[in-house]
Amino acid sequence: MKHLHYHTCNLCEAMCGIEIEHCGDDIQAIRGDKADPFSRGHICPKAVALQDLHNDPDRLRHPVKRTADGWVPISWDEALEETAQRLHAIQQEH
Ligand code: SF4
Repeated sequence: MKHLHYHTCNLCEAMCGIEIEHCGDDIQAIRGDKADPFSRGHICPKAVALQDLHNDPDRLRHPVKRTADGWVPISWDEALEETAQRLHAIQQEH
């Protein structure tokens, strides 16, 4: 069953509105969103390539942490907690 998902292209500051036609995880088309008040249906070729980024087997799909043994997957809660702690430590130091 086809569905339409409306989003914003995040590849540059223009933030064009996009309409994504998909069937589950299978993206079938990416078009400009004609109802977007700023881009009014315009997109450049990079927005169409969002599908390639989405399907790239090397795309990160979860947070990872660098350790002495290499990159290891961690949960979002762990990633956010560690980021908050380290940001706080940097703020205190400087
Ligand atoms: S569609 Fe092109 S111009 Fe619009 S936000 Fe994406 S990259 Fe930028």
